[in-house]
Amino acid sequence: MRVHDILIVGAGLAGMRAAVAAAPGLDVAIISKVHPVRSHSVAAQGGINAAIHPNDSWEAHAFDTAKGSGYLGDQDAIEVMCQEGPADILELERLGAIFSRNGQGQIAQRPFGGAGYPRTCYAADRTGHSLLHVMYEQLMKKGVFVYEEWYVLSLIVEDKVCKGVIAMDVLRGELHAIGAKAVIFATGGYGRVYSSSTNAVINTGDGMSMAYRAGAPLMDMEFVQFHPTTLRETGILITEGARGEGGYLLNTLGERFMNRYDPQRMELATRDFVSRCEQQEVDEGRGVDGCVLLDLRHLGKKKILERLPQIRELAISFVGVDPIESPVPVRPGAHYSMGGIRTNAWCETELAGFYAAGECACVSVHGANRLGGNSLLETIVFGRRAGVRASEHVRRVKTVEIASAPFLAEQKKVERLLKRKNGERIGPLREELGAAMTEHLGIFRARERMEKALQKIQEVRQRYENIHLEDRGKIFNTELINALELGSLIDLAETIVVGAINREESRGSHYRKDFPQRNDAGWLRHTLAYCTESGPHLEYAPVKITRFPPTQ
Ligand SMILES: Cc1cc2nc3c(=O)[nH]c(=O)nc-3n(C[C@H](O)[C@H](O)[C@H](O)COP(=O)(O)OP(=O)(O)OC[C@H]3O[C@@H](n4cnc5c(N)ncnc54)[C@H](O)[C@@H]3O)c2cc1C
Repeated sequence: MRVHDILIVGAGLAGMRAAVAAAPGLDVAIISKVHPVRSHSVAAQGGINAAIHPNDSWEAHAFDTAKGSGYLGDQDAIEVMCQEGPADILELERLGAIFSRNGQGQIAQRPFGGAGYPRTCYAADRTGHSLLHVMYEQLMKKGVFVYEEWYVLSLIVEDKVCKGVIAMDVLRGELHAIGAKAVIFATGGYGRVYSSSTNAVINTGDGMSMAYRAGAPLMDMEFVQFHPTTLRETGILITEGARGEGGYLLNTLGERFMNRYDPQRMELATRDFVSRCEQQEVDEGRGVDGCVLLDLRHLGKKKILERLPQIRELAISFVGVDPIESPVPVRPGAHYSMGGIRTNAWCETELAGFYAAGECACVSVHGANRLGGNSLLETIVFGRRAGVRASEHVRRVKTVEIASAPFLAEQKKVERLLKRKNGERIGPLREELGAAMTEHLGIFRARERMEKALQKIQEVRQRYENIHLEDRGKIFNTELINALELGSLIDLAETIVVGAINREESRGSHYRKDFPQRNDAGWLRHTLAYCTESGPHLEYAPVKITRFPPTQ
């Protein structure tokens, strides 16, 4: 059996940042189900927040983040992120990240939603691409071993101590137990639990599901971010940077409708709010084919080509509209997982030797609603901290010994899947699950509809026990991987809906038509979901408030 000091699952920004931060001299390896630079971080568009300008301050950034989170974010973690963020941005630049510049040659910053100062640093509208490639170069430079196109199936945990993972070499179809003194999950989000999403098809939340099954609680899973500007049908993202640069949202009457809802912040109100306003416009008959219009024409060709070249290409390719000439139809779409594996501000979980960072974790800096540009910052700050803390931990662990039972259990599961000759195919199950989530757990929620979704999820879970695969081969069996991913999605859908049914209030992205008010007396608390045979068991935990007492 192979054993590493630190094993990192996930090679997006959080995972690679953790690997690069791990102490020199340690044996560090990273596993990813796709080539590292195909991780979803590469698709990030609009930018990364940090108070790097002398007129801005980390305290102002922390305030905006706490307020934007509906005061559900843990303020100790928010302080860490906003305080340490500026140095991280400058380090990224020293490592080679090419940020866009202002007229004075400094790193340019654009306004983003919910922010009191224009503090989003960016590389045109391809920020994730720029940062991920820089991190990959550093990974190569440090000689970190990469298990490329290996799929992790489960965590090995004995007596609440994490000892490694069971993973499949996808190319050969072989299972392996890989031991580690510390495991860091940086496995990203679960956007694909919805039928349409801005997320890559690989974003199936495997890490959250594995941690949950291994006994670590998931926190605040009911909070799912819907981004206000995604393309009809495909769900492809049009960055908030488009509104940051001055884009308008119009309804069919040609009205800038945000003026009615929030005349101060207009299109740059927080995402949860703008998405709800758009949906209301559509529901009241002032939309076009379920969309509103994003108008960028007044920005002019030069600015669009310089600052928003990618979204122009996307709009032309996927809806046949050139934003230089016409408004683009957009609608709110599933985008980001605020919830995830519960950690403290050092990325530690409830299992010894097991850490989580990035979108799969819930630190929690985003609470009930994430501000645009804060997720990339979270991956960098907390990825680094996870690498540092895991390095300290492994010095205290002498050896790793693993029993054979976890490996045999996974082997049996895979063999059963490959052997079964009849049963349902996975496609329809995945579609039905995604459709139920989209229909009943969207922007506006109510008990009855969520209960329908729960019934559907439970039905899908039963049918999942009898799925059969057409491809029973070993070599690069993507149908097998998709089947395992579907298992993760079912677990997560259940935690989202159960958390949402129980939370009888509206806060951030969780808006209940039957409980439209925020209720701090009853609900200023985190939801924790523990895995049991009969489904998620919920407990609640207090929110850490340091310097910003909740106000409306
Ligand atoms: C289109 C889009 C645009 C965005 N734009 C912005 C933006 O401008 N600013 C901002 O702040 N945020 C943005 N976000 C959010 C942000 O990009 C993500 O939250 C962040 O990049 C997630 O990084 P990560 O490192 O946590 O995970 P990811 O980059 O998603 O990486 C996950 C990794 O885990 C691996 N993995 C997962 N499961 C397994 C498994 N079972 N076995 C092995 N490996 C596994 C994957 O292979 C991958 O390497 C955007 C998101 C999207 C979808």
